[in-house]
This record gives sequence, C-alpha cells and structure tokens, in this order.
Amino acid sequence: MTGSPAALLTIDLGAIAANYRLLAQKAAPAAAAAAVKADGYGVGVKPVIRTLVAEGCRTFFVATIEEGVELRAMLPDAVICVLNGLIAGDPGEFRAHRLLPALNDLGQVDTWRRWSQDNISAPAVLHLDTGMARLGLPPQELQILADEPERIAGVNLYLIMSHLACADEPTHPLNEEQRRAFAAALTRLPATPASLAASSGIFLGPAYHFDMVRPGVSLYGINPQPGRPNPMNAVVRLQAKILQIRDVDTPQTVGYGASHRIAGPARVATVAAGYADGYLRSLSGRGTAHIGDIAVPVVGRVSMDLITLDVTRAPEVRPGDMVDLIGPHHDVDALAAEADTIGYEILTNLGRRFRRRYIGGKEDA
Ligand SMILES: *Cc1c(COP(=O)(O)O)cnc(C)c1O
Repeated sequence: MTGSPAALLTIDLGAIAANYRLLAQKAAPAAAAAAVKADGYGVGVKPVIRTLVAEGCRTFFVATIEEGVELRAMLPDAVICVLNGLIAGDPGEFRAHRLLPALNDLGQVDTWRRWSQDNISAPAVLHLDTGMARLGLPPQELQILADEPERIAGVNLYLIMSHLACADEPTHPLNEEQRRAFAAALTRLPATPASLAASSGIFLGPAYHFDMVRPGVSLYGINPQPGRPNPMNAVVRLQAKILQIRDVDTPQTVGYGASHRIAGPARVATVAAGYADGYLRSLSGRGTAHIGDIAVPVVGRVSMDLITLDVTRAPEVRPGDMVDLIGPHHDVDALAAEADTIGYEILTNLGRRFRRRYIGGKEDA
C-alpha cells in the first residue's frame, strides 16, 4: 500500500458490537438476528459478521443467493436466510449451501414442499406481506394457505416473517394495522417462531418483537428513530485529503457549470472524493464537511473524483490535511439529510476506492 491515503474510511467494529448488544437487550427475550445484505450495508460483510458472531448472533439475512453463498463460506454453522426468495436460485442451490429461502408466494411454497418430499426437509422462511405490496404472500394467498393446510404441512418452517412499511414513523397507523394482520395470520398457520421488526420496529415496543428481530441499518449506526436522539453508536468515519487550496481574490466561479460564484477573497480547497466514491452529486452546493470542529460548505458541483469546499473559515488548513466528510460532527444521517436521501443510501454507496481501516475489533482486522 502507498503511504497516506487520499481518502480513509474508518469502521468501528466495537461500535457495531455495542449496537448489537443494545438492540439485543432491547428486544429480549426475542432473539436478535442481523441483516447483512449489500456487503453489510457497504461497510464490509466479513468483519461485520465476525463481530456479530462474537456477540452471539446466529441468524443472518441477505438479499441474494450469491450473498448467501459468500456468507456460508465464512459461517459454517449460522442460519442464513435469502430474502429475495426461492426464485433467486433453484432449490438444489439453497440445499447445497444450506441456505433458507424466503418463500415469497404460494408457488414458492408449493415448490419447496414438493422438493422437500423428495429430500430431507430443509428449513425455509415464510414471508407474509401485511402492507408493503412488495415481497411476501399477499392476503389472498394466506387465505388459501389457511384453508388448505396440507400445502404447508410438509414444509419445515424456521420462521414466519413480515416487514413493516412505516416503522420509522411511530405514530403511523399502518404499524398497528400490520402488527394485527401479522398476529392474526400467525393463528392460522402452523405454530412457528415469528419476526416482524427490523431496526425501527424494535423501537415500537415489545408488541412488535415477537420471537426474533432483524435489525440492519441501526447496527451500522443509523438512527432508527429519525427526529429523536440517536441511541446507536457511530460506526463510520470518512476522511478525505485536501489536494490543493486556491486563494481567490477576484470574483470567480467554482467547478462544472459555474454553479457557485465566489465574490472573494476566499479560500477554496479541492478534496479527493466525488460521486464515484458515493459522495452523492446531490450534495453539490449543499453538503457540509468539517475541519476539526469548523464546518465548511461544499461549493459548486460534486464531480466524479473531487469536491470543492469553501475553507475561508479555516485559515490554518493546508494541502495534505484530512477533512471529515462523515465524522463526529456530521454523522451519516446528517449527510443524508443534506443529500435529500436516507442513511441507507449513503452507507451502501461507500466507495471502493477508500482505504478501509477497521478499528475496535476483537482482533483488529
Ligand atoms: C433490509 C431488511 C431488514 C433490515 O432492515 P433495517 O431497516 O435496515 O433494520 C429486515 N427485514 C427485511 C425483510 C429487510 O429487507
């Protein structure tokens, strides 16, 4: 590796461990699984699962079968559920890697049952749609399943799950509607452990915990209760290097499109990160970075590899210094708000060009 990196992403595994403990404690006696799809929400699935396993996590949710296969290679004993469902691969593939498919419609239930009759009855997760109109059995298919119990009788169900649409809005009436629909559905199906809550759902209270919770984003430090103090520990810090500083004395514009005009005198720092690194272009003229505790604005457009900051307020700063793009004074949620998006999107776009440093691990990775 070369010397000092142009941009450094620091991931605090100790914070992930503490977040898991906090969530597990809040959800107890329900078990706490973990969603680690999309490479552990962009922070690196391998160190994440090592951390979570050390904290006692035994059940993991991924989106695709490829993610499941990758996880299985690292976790010989864990329960790994593939949310995209049986359609993501053929039953033999799930079996070969001992992955649990989510059964997302009646056809998938039938396929898994038929296939199970000829093989060892491998476990699966039944996913009910209680109000997302996304994945999972819709109410009409639940009705059929309840009326024709033989369709599910031969299926080895590890879990029955559903997913909340509005859990980050605690007063939204759909939360209670979905909870009731889910609880009612459970009474019509074979007795099986149940799971409804992801990160935000955990904070809706014990009635939402059932037997297992499935936090994802909160493990990585995002606030599961937007608008209220964040109970989670910050996981990610993103620093990038100042490549050059331009002293502007006469009025001039900055960057592509000449979208920002400086009246001068001012200092403009060019920093080594851009939209190709997941520093979203929508942060043009809107993002905030920090030099120590001094907030400095992004001026002009975010380009592919570079951003420009007005650092007039930080006269001490020099080329080669690192600025915080995400850090103690500006967390992922704050940056997401400036980009008019959510922390999930910032995290899962974290760039591949950043030097990554993992700290706080049991054995520092
Ligand atoms: C992604 C996902 C989760 C985790 O959600 P977070 O909001 O990140 O906690 C849980 N369940 C399902 C079905 C998911 O798709």
